[in-house]
Amino acid sequence: MDTDIATLINVTKKFGKVTALRGLSLRVPKGVIYGLIGPNGAGKTTTLRIISTLVTPDSGIVKVLGHELPHEKNVIRGRIAYLPEEAGLYERLTGWENLLYFAMIYFGRGRAEEVAKKGAYISGLKSEDLHRRAGEYSKGMARRLAIARALMLDADLIILDEPTSGLDVFSSYRIRKMLREYVKNSGKTIILSSHNMLEVEEICDYVGLINKGILITSGPPSMLKAKYHGRTLEEVFISIVGLGE
Ligand code: ATP
Repeated sequence: MDTDIATLINVTKKFGKVTALRGLSLRVPKGVIYGLIGPNGAGKTTTLRIISTLVTPDSGIVKVLGHELPHEKNVIRGRIAYLPEEAGLYERLTGWENLLYFAMIYFGRGRAEEVAKKGAYISGLKSEDLHRRAGEYSKGMARRLAIARALMLDADLIILDEPTSGLDVFSSYRIRKMLREYVKNSGKTIILSSHNMLEVEEICDYVGLINKGILITSGPPSMLKAKYHGRTLEEVFISIVGLGE
C-alpha cells in the first residue's frame, strides 16, 4: 500500500552460493517501531541493507517512502538514516564534536550547532561526558551517541541494525526509552533488527518474524500472540518454525 513506509514484495538475494533472501515480502506502516526478528543468518541485515539502498536485490519489488528502488535510490537516500551494527565514532573527537561534525556534513555550518544540540539532547548523555573523547566511552555510551547521531538528522525513516546488541540492561533500557520517545514526539518510523524477542516485544508496535530468508508472519505483538496462542513472541516463533537443527 502507498501509505506504507516500506514495502518489499517477493525479494530474493544471493551472495555467491548463499541464498540470503528467498522471496521475502513485508510492509512497514508509518509512525511505528518495526522490529525484524529472527535467528542468526535469517536475513535481517540483508533486508535492512536493501531498504537502506546499500544492497540491490536479485529480484522482487522494493518501495521506500513511496519511491521505487533502484531508480529512485538518491531520493530515498536523502530521507533515511541507517546505522549499521558496527557503526563507530571518531574516537579522537569528543562526543559533542562527533555530533557537530556529522551535523555539518548533512546540514552545513549554518545549522550544524542547532542539529548537534538536538543530538546531544536525544542521547541523554551528561554534558561532562559529551565533552570527553569518544574513545573513552563505554560501549553503552558510544551506542547512545551513535543512535542519537542517526536520529538527529530528522530522517523520515531510521534503520537500526541490532541497536542494543552486546549492551547491559541499563544501556539497553535507555536506548529503548530513547527510541520510544523519539517516535512518539516525531511521528517518524524506525525499523530495527534484534535477536532479543523479549526486547522487541516490549518496544515494537509491529514485528516481522524472519527465518531462512523469508518473513514467516508479521503484525503487532499482541495480535501474533493471540493468533498463535503463545504467551511470548519466542513461543510464537518456536510454534511456527520448531526448535531448529
Ligand atoms: P545475524 O543475526 O547473524 O546478523 P542476519 O539475520 O542479519 O544474521 P544476514 O546478515 O542478512 O542475516 O545474512 C543472511 C545470510 O547471507 C547468511 O548466511 C550470511 O552469511 C549471508 N551473507 C550476508 N551478507 C553476505 C555477504 N556480503 N557475502 C556473503 N554472504 C553474505
